[in-house]
Amino acid sequence: MTDEEYELILKSGRIAAKAREAGAKAVKEGAKVLDVCEAAEREIISSGAKPSFPCNLSINYEAAHYSPVIGDQKVIPERAVVKVDIGAHIDGYVTDTAVTVSLDDRFSRLLEATRDSLMAAISNFKSGRELGEIGRVIERTLKLAGFKPIRNLGGHLIRRYELHAGAFVPNVFERGLGIVRTGETYAIEPFGTDGEGMVNEGKEVTIFSLKGVRNKILTEEEKTLLQIIEERFKTLPFTERWLSDSMEVQTLRATMKSLWRKGVLMGYPLLVEGRMGTVAQFEHTVVVRGDEVKVVTELD
Ligand code: MN
Ligand code: MN
Repeated sequence: MTDEEYELILKSGRIAAKAREAGAKAVKEGAKVLDVCEAAEREIISSGAKPSFPCNLSINYEAAHYSPVIGDQKVIPERAVVKVDIGAHIDGYVTDTAVTVSLDDRFSRLLEATRDSLMAAISNFKSGRELGEIGRVIERTLKLAGFKPIRNLGGHLIRRYELHAGAFVPNVFERGLGIVRTGETYAIEPFGTDGEGMVNEGKEVTIFSLKGVRNKILTEEEKTLLQIIEERFKTLPFTERWLSDSMEVQTLRATMKSLWRKGVLMGYPLLVEGRMGTVAQFEHTVVVRGDEVKVVTELD
């Protein structure tokens, strides 16, 4: 990683952190999910970066992958546990960060344990370490506090224009996942729950990304939308709100759906806790530089 690249990641991370705080501040009982996400995304754009994926706002037993749609009327209910997951990129240098806000004191221990597991994972994260060992630290921290990690979610290697670039940082011990290397950027993201400790796919799909376009027969409308998607997002995730200027909303939805069915787009379904347990999540992006591990999504 060059110094220029590192500078861009630092800047991107700082902007993502500011956006995370703007989102967290907007979380209130009765607030629209749409308004919270727009506040966070606006912070990124006004700072001169771009969102690296749509703001995810997930409530209670929802773990991830809900982003508000155009005209979304969904509001934050009373006593909710709300995850705000947001990311920025500058010229493809992606960062990713999340925080949980609880409107109910009963969940403070869950939040605290999940935050502690992130901090423990970060202090154990270093060049040469097995990725599976990071999962062991997260699992142990959460279990000692009486909670479970979500075993089928985890952190990930980040590359330029690639949010999920292969290597996986588990939230439980796992063998054979490879080792951390200098020059790499990772998102580390424990999820803690009082439920089953795994997520299932729900029905709703609000987040998409470009998958592959070879050998597909497309309509004129699909071609038009595809071109806009390629230009604006490359292979980074996006949502219908970010395409509202491209066509009328019903046509846009229908075209996105047909591109998804044809395998041109990938859809990310809502992820729901297996026993409808409450879920907390904390996430930071880190860069490994020799013996140093820099948390780039921290506010100083
Ligand atoms: Mn995230
Ligand atoms: Mn992530």
